[in-house]
Amino acid sequence: MKAVLFHTHGDPEVLEYADFPTPEPGEGQVLVKLEAAALNRADLWTRSGWPGLKIEYPHILGCDGAGSVAAIGSCVSGWNPGDRVVINGNLSCGHCPACIAGQDNRCRDWHLLGETVRGTYAEYVVVPATSLYPIPDGFEARKAAAAALVFLTAWHSLVIRGGLRPGESVLVVGASGGVNTASIQIARLAGATVYVVGSGAEKLKLAEAMGADYLIDRSKDENWSKTVYTLTAKRGVDVVVDNVGTTFPSSFRAAMKGGRILTVGNSGGPKFEIDNRYIFNKHLSVIGSSMGTRTDFATVMNLVFAGKLKPVVDRDYPLAEARLAQERLEKGGQLGKITLSIG
Ligand SMILES: [Zn+2]
Repeated sequence: MKAVLFHTHGDPEVLEYADFPTPEPGEGQVLVKLEAAALNRADLWTRSGWPGLKIEYPHILGCDGAGSVAAIGSCVSGWNPGDRVVINGNLSCGHCPACIAGQDNRCRDWHLLGETVRGTYAEYVVVPATSLYPIPDGFEARKAAAAALVFLTAWHSLVIRGGLRPGESVLVVGASGGVNTASIQIARLAGATVYVVGSGAEKLKLAEAMGADYLIDRSKDENWSKTVYTLTAKRGVDVVVDNVGTTFPSSFRAAMKGGRILTVGNSGGPKFEIDNRYIFNKHLSVIGSSMGTRTDFATVMNLVFAGKLKPVVDRDYPLAEARLAQERLEKGGQLGKITLSIG
């Protein structure tokens, strides 16, 4: 099969479009013929590498993908060749206490497809049968791939961990990334009033199209937490979605007393200073989460297939041009998800 792989960590130049043996499905596994993959920031981090990351070279990136069932391993039932499927990139053991409790994203042997296991930048990928979800007829594989991880992550953070309720106010810090566009839509669907802080008119236009009620342009308004305070009649918002990290000081100021700060990532960098006085004086809760459960995956994919949540696709590249696609993601100018077309 053709795949985009790398033998050593580094810049996008390490990615090669090359031949690689087509994997075979083992017990409990399914071989998926991919039609589409989607890029995630995790791809860039894995390509760059970090101390202690253990992977087998050559490695194939990609946590999101969709296509059809090509072959089925032993002990798998319920799937047939040709079934159209979207992949849940969360790989869990299925038998530890967290998995048994239905909290498989807290599995003690958790892996992400494309991070420690070869992923979806390829014509074929092998995944556990339990990682598949059916795509209804007529729904584009590319949109399913673009939706999977970001809607799963945003749903688990806002609804399951954040306990978002109708009538609450939500501030989303950042307008154009995959998780943020998903968060805006989920907050709207949940019946919340949505405030978005973004940089530039184009990104804010996208946020508005997703259903944001109030738009604040960070490139013109550095003191955006004060603007949120003014817009909410000096109350602050119930919930702040902050996946930037370095913006925490402003997010703390924008939150109401008793507010919740939700975070699933740190696009601005992992380390920053916070003023603890805000946390206790304002009774704030900082709530972290990562990915989501299989139940969440089924819930959000059903909402995506029903058209209630809409994946935003920025630009599509052929698989062979994955390097260019990653360069675009690295620059950060994208509006929504960057996808790869395969085959
Ligand atoms: Zn487990």
